[in-house]
Amino acid sequence: MDYFPAFAVFVLGLLFGSFLNVCIYRLPRGLSVVTPRSACPQCNRPIAFYDNIPVLSWLILIGRCRGCRTPISPRYAIVELLTGLLWVGCYLEFGMSLGLVKWAAFAFLLLGLVFTDAETMLLPDLMTLPGIGLGLVFAFLVPVNDLVSQLLPGMVSVPLSSGISVHLFSFGDAALGALAGAGFIYGVGELYYRARGVEGMGFGDVKLMGMIGAFLGLKLTVFTLFAASIAGSIFGLSTMLIVWMKRTRRRQVRHHEAPAMARHKAWQSARLALRYYQMPFGVFLGIMAMVALFFGESFLHWYWKFL
Ligand SMILES: [Zn+2]
Repeated sequence: MDYFPAFAVFVLGLLFGSFLNVCIYRLPRGLSVVTPRSACPQCNRPIAFYDNIPVLSWLILIGRCRGCRTPISPRYAIVELLTGLLWVGCYLEFGMSLGLVKWAAFAFLLLGLVFTDAETMLLPDLMTLPGIGLGLVFAFLVPVNDLVSQLLPGMVSVPLSSGISVHLFSFGDAALGALAGAGFIYGVGELYYRARGVEGMGFGDVKLMGMIGAFLGLKLTVFTLFAASIAGSIFGLSTMLIVWMKRTRRRQVRHHEAPAMARHKAWQSARLALRYYQMPFGVFLGIMAMVALFFGESFLHWYWKFL
């Protein structure tokens, strides 16, 4: 491993992470990410360049504004550090190549969307739509050796090794991935809405999955959908269990109810409380797309062995 390029990629990731923080705060609020300069939302004091050094400034200021001492969310340092680390991960995986640019851009967008969805339940179009476009363009520039490009050549007898066809198949794979990802989430959202009358999945999730599909191609898109559904279900069920147990105990302690009665009533109230709880599903989709980017292929190789 070359330490200097890895370090350079890490520092660049930190700087882009700093910009990503601006996007996470401003895009869902409909504000420009270019102007004005960053200022403390509490006292409006402009943030000086020496207080804007990724991660370090947050540590030096112990997470508080220099002017009014209002706490600054640790999210700022976390997003910067994660962008740096993910970019080094991309460098180690893909080397100094156009692939590095592609996957670093993907990781950047995913990280921004995951944190925006977690904080605001929104997935801004200004991240997802350019993301879909970027994914399709990169599919053409950096061919992915994926499902379609492995299956189709035999059927349509186009010599895969000959120049442009590799790029076209890769583009087709990305387009299929985008359609399948967006279509699946759209379908699930419609079914959920018809069954429960509550919106479970927004259009933001549809566009996010379109972006993920455009970058990953069909095979890893399917992997992402499966993995995110499993993770989301585990999260939903454990939230339900925790709420149930807490309410059962509260009923026994406060109202001196018999255990069976307390459990029964707590279950009913937990179900009611969580019926309208909106899960930020984009968080799970985004995290699992990152898992797919780094570990998807090796997981599928391992998994095929059992079939
Ligand atoms: Zn302040």
